[in-house]
Amino acid sequence: MKKDDCIFCKIANGEIPSTTLYEDEEFRVILDLGPASRGHALILPKEHYANLYEIEDDTAAKVMVLAKKMAKAMTKGLKADGFNLVQNNGETAGQTVFHFHLHLIPRYADEKKIIEWTPGTISKEEMEKIASQVKEQL
Ligand code: AMP
Ligand code: ZN
Repeated sequence: MKKDDCIFCKIANGEIPSTTLYEDEEFRVILDLGPASRGHALILPKEHYANLYEIEDDTAAKVMVLAKKMAKAMTKGLKADGFNLVQNNGETAGQTVFHFHLHLIPRYADEKKIIEWTPGTISKEEMEKIASQVKEQL
């Protein structure tokens, strides 16, 4: 399904032009308009899924295979030194466009860190509690 008021549906399906690095029946890979690094791109499914919670298993699997193909080509072509995959779900997690997308971010040795956090601490009891809270949902 496509969503009428979704900009990434329109871009993925070619109704709005984009700089496209790759396209097939199910996906379009475009350059991000506000890049975190040189070559920052987005994998967009042509069908509308708001986020990872909604995406079909089969599509999710294909996204990772495509990410691998793109990472290899982009690393080689752009002479990158490393690569980050980023995928935000929900406003709290930083999602701003509510059509599933995977960020492909080439990294270069001479650039500052893009993704970082301050490691916290955790007790064994808290780790056990977290494990049981998740496991009961699987
Ligand atoms: P997120 O914060 O994970 O939802 O990421 C949305 C990304 O989409 C951001 O990196 C934006 O720079 C990018 N973006 C928003 N609109 C466009 C557009 N029309 N074409 C390309 N990239 C876009
Ligand atoms: Zn959409």
